[in-house]
Amino acid sequence: MEWPKIRDDLARLEGYHSPQVDVQVRLNTNESPIPPPKQWVDDLGKELHKVEWNRYPDRSTKKIRSDIAAFHNIDPNMVFVANGSNEVLQSLLLAYGGPGRKAAIFEPTYALHSHISMITGTEVIVGERKADFTIDVENVSKVLDQGPNVIFLCSPNNPTGTVVTSDFVEDVASRCSQMGTLVVVDEAYGEFSDWSAMDLIGEGLPIVVTKTFSKTWSMAGMRLGYMIAPLEIVDATMSVALPYHLDVLKQVAGSLALRHVEEMESRVELLVQERNRLVEKLRLLPIQQWPSGANFILFRPNEDTKMTGEMLWHALLEKSVLLRNCATWPGLDGCLRVTIGTPEENNSFIDSLEAILE
Ligand code: PMP
Repeated sequence: MEWPKIRDDLARLEGYHSPQVDVQVRLNTNESPIPPPKQWVDDLGKELHKVEWNRYPDRSTKKIRSDIAAFHNIDPNMVFVANGSNEVLQSLLLAYGGPGRKAAIFEPTYALHSHISMITGTEVIVGERKADFTIDVENVSKVLDQGPNVIFLCSPNNPTGTVVTSDFVEDVASRCSQMGTLVVVDEAYGEFSDWSAMDLIGEGLPIVVTKTFSKTWSMAGMRLGYMIAPLEIVDATMSVALPYHLDVLKQVAGSLALRHVEEMESRVELLVQERNRLVEKLRLLPIQQWPSGANFILFRPNEDTKMTGEMLWHALLEKSVLLRNCATWPGLDGCLRVTIGTPEENNSFIDSLEAILE
């Protein structure tokens, strides 16, 4: 018998893995360490009794789009909602990428930008960052010279934490608007930084901002994400979504979450405070760290510690603290990424790190 063969280009592709190990302190996947409000869970339970489960959900996802729009104070027609922001990215690449088209990324960055590009048959243009992980005009020019149809800016960038400036995005977008290139600003961690590229939409620039309920809204288990974009781009993206792609549970859950904006903001405030506290603590240790506008910090042990990133990752794991091991990723030699946890989790991390590096 001969098994049907997968597409040649997919056979070469490696899957996306983030190993889950049973530990006491799990700081490896940038989730929120704080659950959503109990009231939200209770309300969700009540709402689910009212759902007509034998019917398909609202195909146009009208209510959740208008609730998200009200939260951001924009037109509901500028919102597209999907199963996690990963599905938003996939929809964008189905609409604007595909065979014969190209998407540009600046490594190191979120692995799914190139991964979903490849799945959708989109050629990937790999741009570079400077040594401090920022992107400059020259990096952008090199990439634009290769004529991408889509360009990804991740801000704050995963896994480096780097935030691009508003002037920079505006400059890239106005250059892209001359070439018909779509600028996707992935703001999965946007609320942890001090600005959003959303403010630039509506100025005739081809900018899409993607956001998620997975991080700031403490709802990674729900798989809900969205984008804000000019109407033409939302329409095009909707045309590739499957009928009824967003189930009724997500539509209800998202709308209910938006009733708890204050709780969300105070969770973000706590995590930003904790991030700043960790930055100060890390400063006292023999490690190098990079400025972060997200709910994580990238760092690596200094050479004089005689420890590689790999060794440090294992040593922390032995103390039941799990970080993301980026040590072997291109451009991230020896680096580890720690997600900001609860104050207690962060103390365990810092105590363990101090004990190891002493
Ligand atoms: N963008 C970035 C930069 C991320 O780090 C993640 C999650 N790790 C996502 C998008 C995807 O988020 P989700 O699909 O959970 O909305």
